[in-house]
Order: sequence, then C-alpha cells, then structure tokens
Amino acid sequence: MYHLVRSFALPAALIAVLPAAAREDGAMRGYTAASSRVERDWEQKFRAIPEPARLRESMRRLSARPHHVGSPYDKDNAEWLRAQYASYGFDATIERFDVLFPVPIERVLELVAPTKFVAKLEEPAVKEDPTSNQKSEQLPTYNAYSADGDVTAPLVYVNYGVPDDYDALERRGIDVRGKIVIARYGGSWRGIKPKVAYEHGAVGCLIYSDPKDDGFAEGETYPNGPYRPKDGVQRGSVMDMPVYPGDPLTPGVGATKDAKRLDRKDAVTIMKIPVMPISYADAQPLLAAITGVVAPPAWRGGLPITYHLGPGAAQVHLKLSFDWSLKPLYDVIARLPGAVYPDEWVVRGNHHDGWVNGAEDPISGQVAEMEEARAMGELVKQGWKPKRTIIYAAWDGEEPALLGSTEWVEEHAAELKQKAVFYLNSDGNGRGFLGVDGSYSLMRFANEVAHDVDDPEAHVPVWQRMRASRIIGGDQESRNRADLKIGALGSGSDFTPFLQHAGIPTLSAGFGGEDGGGIYHSIYDSFYWYTHFSDTSFVYGRALAQVAGTMIMRVADADLLPQEFGNLAETVRGYVSELKTLREGIAKKITETNQSITEGVFDATNDPRHPLLPPKTEPAAPFLNFAPLDNASEGLTGAASRFEKAYATSVSSGAGASVFPRVNALLRQSDEVLLLPDGLPKRPWYEHSLYAPGLYTGYGVKTMPGVREAIEQRDWKLADAEMIRAAAALARETELVTRAAELLERSVKIVP
Ligand SMILES: [Zn+2]
Repeated sequence: MYHLVRSFALPAALIAVLPAAAREDGAMRGYTAASSRVERDWEQKFRAIPEPARLRESMRRLSARPHHVGSPYDKDNAEWLRAQYASYGFDATIERFDVLFPVPIERVLELVAPTKFVAKLEEPAVKEDPTSNQKSEQLPTYNAYSADGDVTAPLVYVNYGVPDDYDALERRGIDVRGKIVIARYGGSWRGIKPKVAYEHGAVGCLIYSDPKDDGFAEGETYPNGPYRPKDGVQRGSVMDMPVYPGDPLTPGVGATKDAKRLDRKDAVTIMKIPVMPISYADAQPLLAAITGVVAPPAWRGGLPITYHLGPGAAQVHLKLSFDWSLKPLYDVIARLPGAVYPDEWVVRGNHHDGWVNGAEDPISGQVAEMEEARAMGELVKQGWKPKRTIIYAAWDGEEPALLGSTEWVEEHAAELKQKAVFYLNSDGNGRGFLGVDGSYSLMRFANEVAHDVDDPEAHVPVWQRMRASRIIGGDQESRNRADLKIGALGSGSDFTPFLQHAGIPTLSAGFGGEDGGGIYHSIYDSFYWYTHFSDTSFVYGRALAQVAGTMIMRVADADLLPQEFGNLAETVRGYVSELKTLREGIAKKITETNQSITEGVFDATNDPRHPLLPPKTEPAAPFLNFAPLDNASEGLTGAASRFEKAYATSVSSGAGASVFPRVNALLRQSDEVLLLPDGLPKRPWYEHSLYAPGLYTGYGVKTMPGVREAIEQRDWKLADAEMIRAAAALARETELVTRAAELLERSVKIVP
C-alpha cells in the first residue's frame, strides 16, 4: 500500500451528536421505501457480527511468518484464506498466475573513497518482537525491479529526486551524468526517483529513510515507540507503474501459464539502473563523505551532519544482481451467488501478500475483509439472499506491482465489463478517521454509509468525525456541505486496474490519522508492532468491516444502483477551473522569468562565492481553448439535476420499478464511458479520463490527467487536443445520465 500521511488530533467536545442508530430512517439511495426497511434490518444485523478478538487471531495467524510472493507462507496463507472463505459459505477457489518477480542474489554497497565503509544492509532482530528474527524466510532489503548492475562513481545528493530538484542542481552547475545519486524517501512515490535519475544520466540510485521523515525526529523509535529505528529499511517496488502495473512481461493480458510473454529486455516498466533502499545508519557515512556545495535549507534532513550536494571526494560502489525467474501468484476468489441478478457482480478486495510479516500492510485490512465475509455467511444462514453476486478477493502480489489484481482484471476483462457493478478496495488499516476515495458518482453513497456506522472510540457516526477533522484542519467548506468530498484515486493499491483500466465504479476505504509510525515495508511491520502501537484493540478493524460490508451489501441489494451525478459535475467544474489557474500560473512565471533574464536580475543578485546559473529562457505560454471542457461540464451539470429530479420521484415510491433493470444497465457504465479510446498519451493502459497516477509523482493522483500533464509539461498543442478528448468523454457521460433520466421520467410520466 501507499504511505499514509496522518496528522490530525481532535478535541472530543466538538463531536457531541447523535449516534448513527438514532438517525436511521427514511429511504436509502437506490431503495424503495419498503425495500429500504428490509435492507436496514439486515445491515444492522450484519454490523453486530464482526468481532475484534477474531480480527486479532486472524492477524496473528496471517502475519506469523514472512509471506511475500513466491514464499512458502504466501501459498500457505492463500490456502488457509481459501478454506476460511469456504467455511463462511462462499464458493472459494485459488486462481494462479505466473509472474516475473525478481529477488536479490547479491547486494553490495560500499564507500570506496575518501575513506572505506561497507554498508550493513541488514535489519537486526529486536528481542521484544518474536517474528523479527525469522532471518531465513525474510526478503533482504531491496527495491524490486531494479536493474542488475555493478557501478562505481561519485555520489550526488538529490533531495527527493523529483524533476524540480534536478532543476535546482542544474542552476548550481551540478550534473549527475555518470554519477550515483542518493535521494531521500518522500516527495514522490519511490519509483519516480530512479526513473528521473536515469533520465538525467545517473548510473545508480540509492534511496534512504531520513529520520526527519519517519524516524527519531517524529517520535520514539521501535521497539520503544512506533517510529523507524536506525537500521530500518523501506523495501518496495520501483517498477514504472505509472506506465502500466502488473506483470512486466504480459501487459494487457492475464499472466496465465500459456500467455505470450515479452522478452525481459523489452519490458519498459523495469528500471534501467541499479537502485537500492538503505537505512539512515547506512546512509549517514555516505552523506557525511559528500563534499562540495552545502545543500539548501529545505533539502536538509534530520541527521547530525552538514548535508552537501557533491559531487566531490565521495565515491561509492554499488553491485546488485537478481534471480529473474517467474514466481507463482495465488489469488483467493470467493463467491456468494446473487439470487435476483447473478450476472451483476459486486467485488471486494484487499491483498494478502506482504513485504515481510506485513501485519499492518496488508493484514490489518485483510482481516477486516474476512470478518465481513464471515458475517455475510451468518446472514445467509438466517435467510438473507443478496440480489447480486458478491465476490470477495484476497489478492496476491500487490506489493511488487499490483500483480494479483491486475492479472485477474486483465484475464477477466471481457466478463468484468459485462458484469461488474462496483469494486471496493482496502489495504492496511489503522486508528482515526475514515478516509474514502474513488468515483465521484459514488460520493453521495459513501457519505450515506459513513452516517450509518459509529466510531468505536468517539461513539458518533464516522461521518461526524470526518467532518470535524476537516473543519479543524482548516477546511471551512466542509461545515456547509451535505456530502463531504471524497478524494480522487491515484495508485498504490489494487483499485487501479478496476477503475483506471476497466472503468468499474470504485471506492477505496480505510481508517487512519491517529497512528503514526515508521515500520512501513520493514521486518518491524509485525504483530508485535501492530498490537502495541496501532489499533491495539482491533475496534477500528471492526469499524472498517462495518463500513466496507455495509457498502457491499447496500450495492448488492439495491433496487437501483446508487450513482449520483451532481457531485461529479461539481468536481469536474472544479477541475476545469484548476486547469485554467494552472495555465495562468505557468504563463505568468514564464513571462516573469524571461523578463528577469533580459533585465539581468539573476546576474546582478548572483553571489560569486555561491554561484547560481540563471534559469533558461522559455517560449511564452499560448492561450488554450477551454471552451470544449466548459461546454461539456455545463452539459453534465444540467443532466445531473434532471436525473436527480426523476430519481426522487420514481425510486423511493417504487413507481419506476419496471425500468430499474434498464437504468441499472446504464449506471453500471458510469465510469466505463469516461474511458478514453487509446488511453492516456504515452501510457495507453491507463484509460480513465479523470483519474490516473502522475507520470512524475507516482501514487499521487493527477485528475483530468491527459490535460493536466500536458499543461505541466508545457506541451500546449497536446493540451488542446487532450481537452477535446476529455470533453468527448464527459459528453458520453452526459448522454448516459440523460438516457437514464428519460427512462425514469417516462416510467412515472414526468414531463421534464
Ligand atoms: Zn498494502
């Protein structure tokens, strides 16, 4: 999973409101008044079933040994999970794929000049933590999909290693061609760092965890506290996933036994230079040996040294080689057949593989998923029959590259496009506030469910806590909104293939914000860590099971799917205005910089003792044609309010029931019609016109990505062309919403 930023605290006095149960009245979205009562009853029974003690025991079992892709315990866990889901009454199977997953054979990192230092590259066991000594099964510290290599070169410190950092180095006359760079974690997804380093000519890349980010500067270190100890290392993938995730050898198709595979040298998502993550204990002697210009203040971390940029006397030797054989992948797929619409699928997923023991990432989410399925199995015994087919999936291989979910979606793409109505993802879970991200047409639905589940510690609806945390965080707008905004999805977990490749309406949910730590992707992400420093009583695990299970049941039983388009239209209008501001900001900056160059401002202020080269002159930014996007978002706004009017009259009364199946067939496609034919520029696997991970930010989302990235990269011609394509996608959405509104209007004889 991605690294959550969690930083709110909340006074209890703000949140004295009614608990959820007191407000459960009125029809739910997508339900007639009568079916609403029946559904509420089942949902309340459901939410009473999940038990913290079971969450705890399942976590103890699943995190007992290292369980990365290809390990014995990964397979053992998959088989145990299959048996568990079967025991709940699901039809559970294991679906196998075979994927390229490199593991290290040799790892060497040493400082060879001006002095000698050999990096340890080991995380020591901690005596309090009984799983931390399982050396023989632990994956060494490494970055998956690094290149093999043996390089010796001067070292340069590049801050976070994002494109802006290289611009700053260039102005100081520092060139990384032929050098090894050292970047700190943070500022972007890790895979961006070696990619940008390679694009600037570097021959190797080190990534270290600075204590300012998740170590002693944040709090007590493990095992005295939750933060990263000096030898802790963040493993992780550096595959170029913003181009395509999944098996690098089988883009676009399932990695089955007989799938046609690329030659490894032709797989564009594998890094071209050797890359390795290191601890701050290993990084400090390397950074201390770098000489040259002192790093600017914002680039300095938490180590007790003067941070220099180099290159200078410091020379390092980095040698890496990997076993590149295929490894088996075990996805657990468990089905509960639908009684009325068996060919409409509601899919729920969380991965089961970890980098090491992975108690938080991903087992804290996986155990919630298990409790949901167990509770649904109990309801079935009591007579509940879901209308739609429910599929519970435990994905393998999320950590290396969203392997299990991507291969499954690619293998079943045609059937999913026919049948899937909703995908709900979770990953690691912690304490604090509910976060929901995903398709904006499901924003109202997400808010409704958040009203119906109570926070286990504050005893108010989780919606109320979300709202309060936003207000206290300075977001005054949340005070006056009926629906709290949800976030857009970038990448970093298994929702990506569902939403951004297959166009299935998707949400992702989890709790966090009150449980900082620094054990992410290390051997210290263990049962001991989780039960001492995170959701120690597993009540937030139960809350996640309640939120996610309620969402799954509510979609599975709905008369009409819960899509709503006013929030989507509002969000799209927001994107268009952001894009205009973005162009204006860039245009102004170019004009101002060019003028300063002409006037000699940079030369006159240059300090010859700390010289800075002037920036380069750039061509002025042209005006762009936003009219297609303005017109399209106007059209969607009109259609959304027409649909909402028809919805209000026809659904809760049940008067429109005869057309519900035809309307559902349209609503199911509310994200699919937003896909771009041929996908995004330079990365056709990503097809959604509204959401994608950034090419140069990684997990961070780029909304309306085709247009936004063209503007950011000053490719003005492409920006105009992408605006036309995005507008066409929005026009398809408007047409779908209008057709759905017409069906509902006719069924109850509304004249619009
Ligand atoms: Zn994860």
